[in-house]
Amino acid sequence: MAAIRKLLIANRGEIACRVMATAREMGIKTVAVYSDADQDARHVRLADEAVRLGPGAASESYLKVENVIAAALSTGADAIHPGYGFLSENAGFADAIEDAGLIFVGPPADAIRAMGSKSASKSLMEKAGVPLVPGYHGSKQDTKTLSTVAEDIGFPVLVKASAGGGGKGMRVVRKKADLKDAIEGAKREAQSSFGDPKLMIEKYLAKARHVEVQVFGDTHGNYVHLFERDCSLQRRHQKVIEEAPAPGMTEKLRQAMGEAAVNAARAVDYVGAGTVEFLLSGRDFYFIEMNTRLQVEHPVTEAITGQDLVRWQLLVASGGELPVKQDDLSISGHAFEARLYAEDPDKGYLPQTGTLSHLKFADTPGVRIDTGIEEGDSVSVHYDPMIAKIIVHGADRDDALSKLQAALSKTHIAGIETNLDFLLGVSSDETFVKAKVDTGWLDRMKPPSLGWRRVTPADETSLAIAALAVINERGVAAQARAARSGDPHSPWFRTDGWRLIDRGHQDVFLRDIIDDEPLLVTAKARAGHCYDLIVGEERVAGQVLDDGGVIIDGVRMNVDVAHTGDRLTVFHDDGRCVFLLFDPADVSADEVDSGGDLTAPMPGKVTHVHVKAGAKVKRGESLLVLEAMKMEHTIAAPADGTVTELRCKAGEQVEDGVPLVIFEPA
Ligand code: ADP
Repeated sequence: MAAIRKLLIANRGEIACRVMATAREMGIKTVAVYSDADQDARHVRLADEAVRLGPGAASESYLKVENVIAAALSTGADAIHPGYGFLSENAGFADAIEDAGLIFVGPPADAIRAMGSKSASKSLMEKAGVPLVPGYHGSKQDTKTLSTVAEDIGFPVLVKASAGGGGKGMRVVRKKADLKDAIEGAKREAQSSFGDPKLMIEKYLAKARHVEVQVFGDTHGNYVHLFERDCSLQRRHQKVIEEAPAPGMTEKLRQAMGEAAVNAARAVDYVGAGTVEFLLSGRDFYFIEMNTRLQVEHPVTEAITGQDLVRWQLLVASGGELPVKQDDLSISGHAFEARLYAEDPDKGYLPQTGTLSHLKFADTPGVRIDTGIEEGDSVSVHYDPMIAKIIVHGADRDDALSKLQAALSKTHIAGIETNLDFLLGVSSDETFVKAKVDTGWLDRMKPPSLGWRRVTPADETSLAIAALAVINERGVAAQARAARSGDPHSPWFRTDGWRLIDRGHQDVFLRDIIDDEPLLVTAKARAGHCYDLIVGEERVAGQVLDDGGVIIDGVRMNVDVAHTGDRLTVFHDDGRCVFLLFDPADVSADEVDSGGDLTAPMPGKVTHVHVKAGAKVKRGESLLVLEAMKMEHTIAAPADGTVTELRCKAGEQVEDGVPLVIFEPA
């Protein structure tokens, strides 16, 4: 087969950027594809060429097979890399690429088909002698049959979408009474996320670990595995932090799991990168599924093996042999990957959208950041809200873990709610530090991030820094006005604090978001960007330096302050202080009481309305279900009370912020 000269990446975000980086290193030209929502996205900026696919919705752009293939043909690309998600495990896409005379950087379509259905692949693995979790993966799908099997297996059971991925369409059921709702909800989610309502039911293995093996095959019949990754740290069956190797792994078990994984790959004549996922309970492991693509968490394997898996994919796709044999591979050190998302862990991991007005990553040795987003970019409602993957490599687990914690604390974000504090909290939690986590651990902690929030109460230094930032901005703004004015040398536009009357006295009014206390910092300007500040009862000497640093009472500090709208975030070693800038003369700044409306937290579709107008409900009771960003979100009663009015109906598409239910607390 011919070498690849130009590669189209049928994906977006961090994975598109990551694939491009290797392609570029190999001298391969890159073509990006994009939707209208992504026209200025990082992956588009990085590519040699870029082609528009369609509107923002994935179904009209990234999932349009014909458009992707047309883009490859029109740019003269000879191969297509699917990334993960989107069309990566779509056998029809692989076929269409081949029919167009192009190379698919992935396994043969038949291998995707064989592994695409969790239920069919289980039958196949059963034949290949790979151990399975007890369960039902048959074709009868009526609620009655599924309920009977579930009862036969014995609670707790796991209801899973056969076509599932990313933990969607999956429900743990602990008692018979919850079965019907779970089956119906999972069917709906499976249908809307994967276009296939088929379910399977498994024994739920409580306290198991998720350990998966990276495998690789080539077209010459060679297979290797690249050891395991432990992805037990999950929330709602979605991976949060992954690591390699798996803690506590013995050589014997590693070999057994590696062999089982290679057998699974061989059973479907696998070619390229794949991952065989197992649940590990004690020393027993059970196959759960094979992912026929590059995984999100592949960087931890790259870190400990020193291999570039995308390079391997491109070599194999051009007909080459695997670059190494099993015996050439070994593990060096330990690696972690944390998935940074725009989401609110305290609100059921509700995805967040908006602009990342401030985004700074750690820039230290041993840290790798894979991202598709830069400061000023936004997270749209159309796709997975991942911001970045923070990957670290250390000499051993302890070393890697402290690098991870340092990298997370040095990540500064403002403008949007993220799971950053949550990641840092989890990675510092004793259970995780001691590697005692199982797949259900996080979900048993409620609410998950309480106590991990790193917003700290106002202290004098942070207040002084915030005030200096505001004063400095006012100066810059005045300078800009002066430059635009007819007389740039007019004393009215002097920016060094000089004022005719009172030598540049300025007041900065701030409110600490923790206790909403109004705080005043008074500044008197002296020469050279120096200020005498009065912060509460204290006097503080402050100076703003040209490089963005400040000197506070003689101590020079590198500071990072984000100012978005009326919100100021001052980052420090232990977290951040957040202040609201306000004008005491402006009474309209007072919050308006929004009454008892329950509004849509994001644009989406109302799939279920559980109550009628006039219904009396208990706190926490589900009122309706909204489907947005491919997930179901339950809108629950905030207190005991009455639903006085319903403002939506099932099937309705709703905008962000519109009232759905008018609610009156008892
Ligand atoms: P997806 O394809 O949606 O990621 P998987 O089948 O890979 O779904 O499972 C995802 C996660 O769900 C696993 O890592 C594990 O935590 C949990 N899980 C899956 N099957 C079981 C089971 N039988 N018992 C307990 N946990 C399970």
